[in-house]
Amino acid sequence: LNLIRKNDTTVLNDIFICVKTTKKFHKVRMQVLLDTWISLARNQTYIFTDEIDTDLADKIDVSHIINTECRADHHRTALVCKMAQEFDWFINSKKRWFCHFDDDNYVNIDGLVTFLQQYNHTDDWYLGRPSLSHPIEVVDRITNQKIAFWFATGGAGMCISRSLALKMVPHAGGGRLMKTASNIRLPDDCTIGYVINTLLNVELTVIKRFHSHLEALKKIRITDIKDQLTFGFALDKTKAVVDIPGFPEEKDPTRFWSIHCHLYPELKQCLTGEIS
Ligand code: UDP
Ligand code: MN
Repeated sequence: LNLIRKNDTTVLNDIFICVKTTKKFHKVRMQVLLDTWISLARNQTYIFTDEIDTDLADKIDVSHIINTECRADHHRTALVCKMAQEFDWFINSKKRWFCHFDDDNYVNIDGLVTFLQQYNHTDDWYLGRPSLSHPIEVVDRITNQKIAFWFATGGAGMCISRSLALKMVPHAGGGRLMKTASNIRLPDDCTIGYVINTLLNVELTVIKRFHSHLEALKKIRITDIKDQLTFGFALDKTKAVVDIPGFPEEKDPTRFWSIHCHLYPELKQCLTGEIS
């Protein structure tokens, strides 16, 4: 893996990787992530949840499990509460890149490092993928003005450079993201877009290599898998999963193990097929 720096190139250790989760997903979503991609980036990944859980601590250092004490629900205020803490942890980390993922994301770790090497963390970068084909429109509660801006959907993953994050501090640091979010009454990822696009006038750079379960994941071709940065899954009636051969569906419903072994066929679990 990419841990040794040559010249000034970005390495894995320069990335602060956040995963947002909640207690009810520790088993059903976090275990597969910890066993697959997080195992390649244990020292760089931080899990933001709402309950301490020793099952998680078996697979990652307890200091990387953050009990946000945010409410354990899907209301936008609870989600913004977690994002606000992710942001502050990143600022304190002094790392080059802030990357946020949901607990239904597979992250191509080697791909992400190579991808971020193309961008300068000392410039302003907001990298991600919108889920809408148009800017979102809302009325700002403070100014009463109608505003429109782009945001990267949190469910596909997104990355922000340190230079840009430092400019966001007055609007997003020290818990202020919650206040900012209440001005527009939108969830966490939209609020990040509002801060960057509306308040700081920095554009979203659209990266089509990020994927959430809101897309037609089945259209990704097997030959293109290694070029993608993230994948999602949904096991509800939408059944949005990557179409990839590998482990049987009962063993690997999310397809994340099959993706992992496609990218890293030499791993022990991939050679033996013992993934439990
Ligand atoms: N989430 C959370 N608290 C909740 C429900 C969800 O923090 O009560 C997190 C969840 O772990 C995931 C993200 O919010 O990282 C999105 O949730 P989910 O994938 O269930 O819903 P979606 O918004 O994608 O439909
Ligand atoms: Mn989701």
